[in-house]
Amino acid sequence: MISALLFDLDNTLYSEATGLENGVSQRINHFIADFFRLSIPEAIRFRREHAKAYGTTLEWLMRDYGFQEPEKYFRTIHPEDEADCLNPDMVLKLMLNKIPIPKAVLTNAPMEHAIRILDKLGIMECFSGIYDIWFNNLIGKPNSDSYINVLEAAGFDREQTLFIDDLPKYVKGYVDIGGPAVLKDEMDRFADLPFRRLKTIYELDKVLDEFNSSYM
Ligand SMILES: [Mg+2]
Repeated sequence: MISALLFDLDNTLYSEATGLENGVSQRINHFIADFFRLSIPEAIRFRREHAKAYGTTLEWLMRDYGFQEPEKYFRTIHPEDEADCLNPDMVLKLMLNKIPIPKAVLTNAPMEHAIRILDKLGIMECFSGIYDIWFNNLIGKPNSDSYINVLEAAGFDREQTLFIDDLPKYVKGYVDIGGPAVLKDEMDRFADLPFRRLKTIYELDKVLDEFNSSYM
């Protein structure tokens, strides 16, 4: 039986159609362009080539370039008005509240971003814990310790905690430590990958039934 749920935040608990995460990505590209004195297209290419070996762009900057200002980086990519495009999601709140097992959030973003998003969506109280990138000492998903430390802090059992994320490499990271996971694939980009997928978060209760019946 699935006894707990662990959620990614961005593009998982809200639709990528909001453009929110796209805005974050654009600000990261601007940051990289400034940092390396590149044009935006050059920065996009440079980041794509080099950051993919790391969990996050910040991790890449810190490890390869000795970057030491994570707070400045987060302030730049997560301005206070970043979540203005989100509205309260009562459908999601109802669905989460109907699923009678504990839920937590694991994000590679900082806490102020997580709180902003969950507050805007009106679902903050649906979660017993929010674990941000600082909790994981800035080494987040897909590092195995990031999942293991969060499961332990939340008191969740690895084999019975379903993890939901929109990025294949983070889903793979959880599967690799032996946990059940689902990929949120809103645009059907990853049909060739060996993960159970869902298109919207509103399918979660159905997916949960499937996981639970497979245990019987
Ligand atoms: Mg995400």
